[in-house]
Amino acid sequence: MTSEPTIIHSATLIDNGLERANSWIAFDGGIITRTGTGTDWRQLMADDPGYDVVDATGYILTPGFIDIHTHGGAGHNFDEGSAAFDAAIRMHRSRGTTRLVISLVTNPLDTMVALTEQVASRAAVDHHVLGVHLEGPFLSALHKGAHNERLLHAATTAELDRLLKAANGYLRQITLAPELDGGLDAVRHMVTNGVAVAVGHSDASYEQTTEAFEAGASILTHAFNGMNGIHHRAPGPVLAAFDHDGVTLEVIADGIHLRPEVISMVFGQAPGRVALITDAMAATGVGDGHYTLGELDVTVTDGVARLTEGGSIAGSTLTLDQALRTAVLRSGVSLPNAVTALTSAPARALGVDDRLGHLQPGYAADAVLLTPELEVARVWAAGVEA
Ligand SMILES: [Zn+2]
Repeated sequence: MTSEPTIIHSATLIDNGLERANSWIAFDGGIITRTGTGTDWRQLMADDPGYDVVDATGYILTPGFIDIHTHGGAGHNFDEGSAAFDAAIRMHRSRGTTRLVISLVTNPLDTMVALTEQVASRAAVDHHVLGVHLEGPFLSALHKGAHNERLLHAATTAELDRLLKAANGYLRQITLAPELDGGLDAVRHMVTNGVAVAVGHSDASYEQTTEAFEAGASILTHAFNGMNGIHHRAPGPVLAAFDHDGVTLEVIADGIHLRPEVISMVFGQAPGRVALITDAMAATGVGDGHYTLGELDVTVTDGVARLTEGGSIAGSTLTLDQALRTAVLRSGVSLPNAVTALTSAPARALGVDDRLGHLQPGYAADAVLLTPELEVARVWAAGVEA
């Protein structure tokens, strides 16, 4: 499909933490060319009547959503390989996610290398895919969540280099436990190679997390989940992230991984630094039943995914439009702040905010039209409507 020159007008536009009534954007060739308010878009039409015109009166227009942590959907996990990519990407896109990072759970290293190669090949030809997020195997067995404990271990430089090579420049993010042997060296090595390092599935204290951030780590993987909580004598990684201005906190806003009140607190303590993620697994967009995640069995009941053995929460069945509704309608986050957490904040966390995450000239034509109830009405990615 090609990108048609398009004008979307008369929308309530949300970008940069602001809400602007009666706004329009124009895009062509997958890039936003002009924006404005009122009816001056008609001038563009006078110059070039070839535009598709979308009257967005009564609708909310936001940048496309960016998910930096998702494992699949539509019945497939991304670790099934490239055959699984299409259906899951399409399902997430229908919910407003125009760019995503493919997150790989812990598997034997050879498997992770092979999958990383497949994701890199896909990212090279599919603008929806920003690259790979490796969630494992360099994680703490004490906070293993839905990762196979038998495969968790401290990173070696040789292993990191193998993964970097397989990713061919598309390794965007790695979640690791910095307190493991050589953990801070691993942080520095990956940061030097242009990878955003996330602290997660970790037993790190406030102090150990601070050291990781000072070594260059810049993301906290699903804040509160897979790590120590906030204790009055052991403040833990979440407080360390609050205290570091450059750090983005991932939040799973399904109302289950975090209570709505806690989501509200994270937004309050880290303004502009929350990235809403899905951590979605295969059941997302499908329903309850039996699934797998990596090598582990998962049972989904009432939309909640848990390991069949032991009952640990195993990813979510969340989509980003639902995360938006949870943040706004249940946690009381303002709509502009919640939209930032779906768009420019995750773009900045991955260092792609020079081209993604805003509705401004020169940016990718990724846009979502929402109803006043925050349901997705229409989605464009790189100027193409699905
Ligand atoms: Zn995950």
